[in-house]
Amino acid sequence: TNFSKSTSKKKVVAVVGGGLVGALNACYFAKRGFQVEVFESREDIRQAKIVKGRSINLALSHRGRQALKQVGMEDTIVSKGIPMHSRMIHSLNGTQSPIPYGKKGQYILSVDRANLNKELLSAAETYSNTKLNFAYKLLNWSTETGAMTFLRADGAKEEIQADLIVGCDGAFSAIRKQFLRQSRFNFSQTYIPHGYLELTMPPINGEFAMKPNYLHIWPRNTFMMIALPNLDKTFTCTLFMPFDEFENVTTGDQVIEFFQKYFPDAIPLIGADALKRDYFRLPAQAMVSVKCSPYHLSDKCVLMGDAAHAVVPFYGQGMNAGFEDCLVFNEIMDQLNEDFSAVLPEYTRVRVPDDHAIADLAMYNYVEMRSHVNSKWFLFRKYIDNFLHIIMPRTIIPLYTMVTFTRTRYHEAVKRWHWQDKVINQGLLCVAASVVGGSYLLVRYPPNMPNISIEQLWTRLQALKSRF
Ligand code: FAD
Repeated sequence: TNFSKSTSKKKVVAVVGGGLVGALNACYFAKRGFQVEVFESREDIRQAKIVKGRSINLALSHRGRQALKQVGMEDTIVSKGIPMHSRMIHSLNGTQSPIPYGKKGQYILSVDRANLNKELLSAAETYSNTKLNFAYKLLNWSTETGAMTFLRADGAKEEIQADLIVGCDGAFSAIRKQFLRQSRFNFSQTYIPHGYLELTMPPINGEFAMKPNYLHIWPRNTFMMIALPNLDKTFTCTLFMPFDEFENVTTGDQVIEFFQKYFPDAIPLIGADALKRDYFRLPAQAMVSVKCSPYHLSDKCVLMGDAAHAVVPFYGQGMNAGFEDCLVFNEIMDQLNEDFSAVLPEYTRVRVPDDHAIADLAMYNYVEMRSHVNSKWFLFRKYIDNFLHIIMPRTIIPLYTMVTFTRTRYHEAVKRWHWQDKVINQGLLCVAASVVGGSYLLVRYPPNMPNISIEQLWTRLQALKSRF
């Protein structure tokens, strides 16, 4: 099929991958009037009984919301999200302490991945110039001719051409494979030693088993568990742990023993039987970080979302960054009059430093979330940062706030964070030095106080009082 020979006056855009970023991108291109063809390897998830995905729910924040807003989807999605205002830290002895995400009124949203994907596909389909093709798996494409080869559900292969190919086919992108053959294409992929496993915490008497408006965290240094609320009053708990440790737990009793040692408060909430069963339902999943550049190949093809930058999930930014990719591309399309030969290189120029920055930050948070939140110094610094932000809102902005609640470019947020860190640490050093220095001087050279007893002082005060 040669879609580019279509009668439409607008060019044909093929979006490969109908996941979160692909479905949103289809809306963006359709809104501009392009002839949009989405090719998704899975069946239509809106009809499927079981939807295989990466995680059951995820945290949506400002960048993702802004991208949804541009295509009129923000309210629909936000209305089905559950606000999480704070992290809730569960210590080993069962005490729970909240750490707010930002200022009063700032929150992130727990959203259901499958529902979000379905809503975005349906939104894309409302444009008459969009066609969704399910069970179309991209096998290969030619950088010379631009022809894409798909494997259809009936086993047949189909060749398709378009004016622009948008690779949104996730962390193991088939579109990206062709980039690897190009000269001066940079690529790196790193698997972290941790895997993840999801467990469900059911409602108790029809109510959430824990406080719902929090992202619950059980930080245990080398590993951790988190839980995000769902609309059906369940929580999805995700256990992050090195694969070696997963391999050590092989029987139901060992699971209980393990939870008894590290997450005792979660056992009655998940249920001992469910825990023994569900722990083994699926093997632990791997997590990969992928960085590459450039994101485009001439004026023919561009990568967005996880296809361009898979990040580890510890900053809750993978999808948000992917959604922001669509928004940034759209802004550049406005600036450069939809001229692909100018827009694509500009998108690479603008976006690569930011996506690389969030990949690094996510890796940094991989350690911060499971171990630093246990440290007193870390909590003290968070407290100081938030306090300084309140009294100097324009000068000191905590990193988490910049990343989660603003559209400050990721790489600028990192730069500013380093600068702030230096300034605050030097400030604290000065305060500490003056306290130590002051105390020393007081001890060494005590001020010349008149030698007077408490009784004498009291009589003098009484005398003074009687005068007024
Ligand atoms: P995907 O969601 O992977 O979609 C790719 C699509 O392409 C799929 O539908 C796939 O079927 C299709 N496809 C693949 N190959 C082909 C092919 N050859 N031909 C045709 N179609 C193909 N992000 C957040 O912002 N907040 C969070 O809280 C968060 N939590 C996470 C928790 C976990 C455990 C994980 C693993 C990730 C989390 N993320 C989070 C990251 C987020 O899941 C991803 O960034 C997001 O899914 C990227 O969307 P995407 O559309 O680029 O890729």
